Parts: sequence; structure tokens; C-alpha cells
Amino acid sequence: MAITPLMPVYPRCGVRPVRGEGCYLIGEDGQRYLDFASGIAVNLLGHGHPVLTKAIQDQAATLMHVSNLYGSPQGEAFAQRLVDNTFADTVFFTNSGAEAVECAIKTARRYHFVTGNPQRHTLICFKNAFHGRTLGTISATDQDKMRGGFEPLLPGFAYAPFDDLAAAEALIDETTAGFLVEPVQGEGGLRPASQEFLKGLRALADKHGLLLVLDEVQCGYARSGTFFAHEQYGITPDVMAVAKGIGGGFPLGACLATEKAAQGMVFGTHGSTYGGNPLAMAAGQAVLDVVLAPGFLDHVNDMSQRLRAALEQMIPNHDHLFESVRGLGLMLGVKMKSDSRRFVGHARDHHGLLTVSAGDNVVRVLPPLVIEQAHIDEFVTKLSEAARTYVPPADE
Ligand code: PLP
Repeated sequence: MAITPLMPVYPRCGVRPVRGEGCYLIGEDGQRYLDFASGIAVNLLGHGHPVLTKAIQDQAATLMHVSNLYGSPQGEAFAQRLVDNTFADTVFFTNSGAEAVECAIKTARRYHFVTGNPQRHTLICFKNAFHGRTLGTISATDQDKMRGGFEPLLPGFAYAPFDDLAAAEALIDETTAGFLVEPVQGEGGLRPASQEFLKGLRALADKHGLLLVLDEVQCGYARSGTFFAHEQYGITPDVMAVAKGIGGGFPLGACLATEKAAQGMVFGTHGSTYGGNPLAMAAGQAVLDVVLAPGFLDHVNDMSQRLRAALEQMIPNHDHLFESVRGLGLMLGVKMKSDSRRFVGHARDHHGLLTVSAGDNVVRVLPPLVIEQAHIDEFVTKLSEAARTYVPPADE
């Protein structure tokens, strides 16, 4: 048999981490890596953070899992904290980002169903969006590389170019349920939406009785410099999918909604065996303790400014390779003039530096939010060295 026991859907690289220490990963061969990828925007407290580790250990020894058929003091407490700190009135907990988006899609459809408009089932989505790998979430992206071979996909999605308000408006018809959008496209190339675009979608939703559904799975949870990225746009969504950073590495996601938007989500309409179990809630509470502590967001913004300034200063020294810096908070992207995937591999294999490639030839810089100046210095030095030793392929 040629197939590997681990289903070979990932082009896995040679890094084989067996331990994490703060902002570093250690491979099984003892090699140390500076981790500015954070499990793709997940480990926002870095690796082995004492608050998160202890919370998980203690909860595992107390009560790990019970069915959602029972009352959940742990879930109620964590949901209440999210409600207190966001636009939302209610929360459904999931185990991943895709499940959070699925719940958001179902919430939007049910809203129109119970308010007498069952024909309003189509979400207007955006080109190069990424919402996950379930059948529902790949139906919400126009990217062929994720959809190929999985047809027939789910009906009920339309696609407009990202950041193009007029194109989104032009797609509205009697079947439209709302908009599904990432305030900052992550996989699509670290593209923050413009103020006009997000504010415009909010206004269109209000005007036509539609729902604004945000996917803040990657950009949410303090990564953008505010608790959620939409706060920087002066708008609130009706429904929002959250995951990644919310568990700091523990598999956890959430679908947040207003009371109005969630009015169709009544007994029996949705569920999950694991979603919101006591262990996940303990992890979520521990991460939130750190994120909401006074000064945490200030630290993220301070580190963001320093990292951005250092990158902007370095880029002109390698202007044959790098074009610009973009992004928000500690969700930064370096736009390259050639294949970013190849360069990310070079920095990783030859300079012990972990970053992530994104669409549009962008190197994603997603450090743990607890980085210090010394990590920024080390990062910029290593990135500079990687740029100096990198030989782009001849045809580029
Ligand atoms: N939405 C966005 C914006 C994402 O970046 C991702 C993952 O990268 C997802 C959804 C899917 O999350 P998960 O892989 O946890 O299902």
C-alpha cells in the first residue's frame, strides 16, 4: 500500500515539532524554530503558557466531558463573558472554525425562515475568501483548489470581488439572506477590508433586511489589535464566527449572534457532541483571562507598531524580493514579488524561522501575541538573512 497512515492531504514540510517553549518550537531532531506562524494564528499565548496549561490540567482532572443534554455551568459562564464583551447576546460553541461558520450560515438561513422569508437563503460571499473545509464552507468560497472534485456543492452562495461594494450590492436579489465576509482576508492574502466596504455592507444589510455575518476566525480575538477586528470599522455584525485564538491551541470555536439574528435557533435546530465541553470552556476562560487583562491589547498594538516599523525599514534593503507590508495588529503580511511559498520554505529550512504563506504571494507574519522586542529583533534579523541568502528561481 502506497498511501500513508496519515491521510496525505497536507504537503507536510520537514519540521517535526515535539515541544513548544513560548515563541519557539523544537523539532524531534532538536532544531529550534522561532515561531511566527503560531499554528496559523492559533497559539496567541505562545506554547506552554502557564495560565492555559494549568487551567487545562486542572479541568482535565476535574471533569473533561459531559453531554450537552445536561446543564453547563462552564458553558454558561464563558458564554456570559463573551456576551458581556461583544455585540452578541448568545453563543454556540464548536470545535473548529469551519463548524463556527457552519453554525453562522445555519443561523442566517433560519432567521429568514422563521421571519417568513424562506426564499432568502443565499449568502453573498467574496472572491478568495476562506471559511474552512466542510462542504458548506467550501461552497462559500469561489476557490477552485478547494472545491475541485467535491461537487455538487451546496446551493445558496454568490460571490463578489472582495472590497467591491457596488459588486456586492448588484448581487442582492429576493433570495439574498445576507453577507458572509472576513474583515481581514487571511488565507486570501492578508487583505484588510476598507472602511467604506465593511460600513457599506452593514448599511446594505440594514437597508434590505439582510444579515451581516462576519468570519473572524483568523482576524478575531485580539490578533488585529482590538478584541475583534470589526471594532476598528465602527460596525457590529449580526452573526460572527470565531475560532483559532479563542482556545489558544485547544480546539474551540464559537458562533456569536444577536438575539434577533438567532431567533430561529431553537431546541433541536443545531448541536454538537463535544461543542463547549468543560475542558474546552476551561481553556477558553484561561485565554480570555489573559486577553482581557488590562494592558494586553496595548501590548499587541505596541508590538504591532514595532514589528511593522522594523519590516518597513528592512524591505527596501531587499526590494528585488519584497514589495510592501500590510495587515492589522499582529496579523501582518509581507507582499513578495515572487513565490512566497518557496521563500517561506527557505526561511524555515535554512534560518529556523516559521511563517506562513498566503494567497497573492504574501508571507504571513502571525506571531504569538505575547512576543517581546527581543523576538521582533530576532525575527527581522532572520528574515533579512533569509532574504540575503535566497535565490529566486531563474524564471521569476
Ligand atoms: N475561517 C477563516 C477566516 C479561517 O482562516 C479558517 C482557517 O484557517 C477557517 C474559517 C476554518 O477554520 P478551521 O480550520 O478551524 O475549521
